[in-house]
Amino acid sequence: MKEVLLSDELSAEVASIYEAMEADYDVVAKSLNFSCDGCPDNCCDSYFQHHTYTEWAYLFQGFWLESAEKQQQITERSRQYILDCAAAEARDERPQVMCPLNEEGRCILYKHRLMVCRTHGVPASMRRPDGQVLNFPGCFRCQKIVKKKFVHDSQAPHMERTPLLQRLVAVERELVGEKIHILPRVKLTIAQMLVQGPPTLATPHCERPESG
Ligand code: SF4
Ligand code: SF4
Repeated sequence: MKEVLLSDELSAEVASIYEAMEADYDVVAKSLNFSCDGCPDNCCDSYFQHHTYTEWAYLFQGFWLESAEKQQQITERSRQYILDCAAAEARDERPQVMCPLNEEGRCILYKHRLMVCRTHGVPASMRRPDGQVLNFPGCFRCQKIVKKKFVHDSQAPHMERTPLLQRLVAVERELVGEKIHILPRVKLTIAQMLVQGPPTLATPHCERPESG
């Protein structure tokens, strides 16, 4: 297996996409006069799966900056997270387990947190590569604000995620190559990524050592 690593150039592009996401989020949040301040909830216990080798590799760049001791703590919490999610699913419930990267309410890999962590909260829409448009209403607090201010949800400002997602797909293509569509699909929680280790792909035949 071959580890999937982001070049400096691709890492810089991921950082730039994330920055743009934050800027777009702030514009919408500001126009709705919305913030997470004083929220009794903490969205880091929301259950999300993530779908790119790019974000997985970028998460590990942050993970590797932590001390060996901290990495071990995170991995142990991740294992527990996976067990707790499986137990919830066995009860036919949607898991609601605190992310293993959250310590005392704060994300310890804040700069490396994933796209969903950066966009959850405000209304957003996104056109998928197959043309289907997905609309996200925002979190329960933001939905309350929208309901008060607008007759219909569609009148509310929202984040348009499509261009940023397209940039992320472009990085993904650079990272894993043109065979992107035939690779095993990523569908993992952050905890599953952390327990599995950095992303890997099967070594192409032409790069394998001769056998026999
Ligand atoms: S995104 Fe919404 S629900 Fe989550 S912490 Fe912020 S205000 Fe609370
Ligand atoms: S990565 Fe950070 S921001 Fe995202 S869910 Fe985990 S603790 Fe929260």
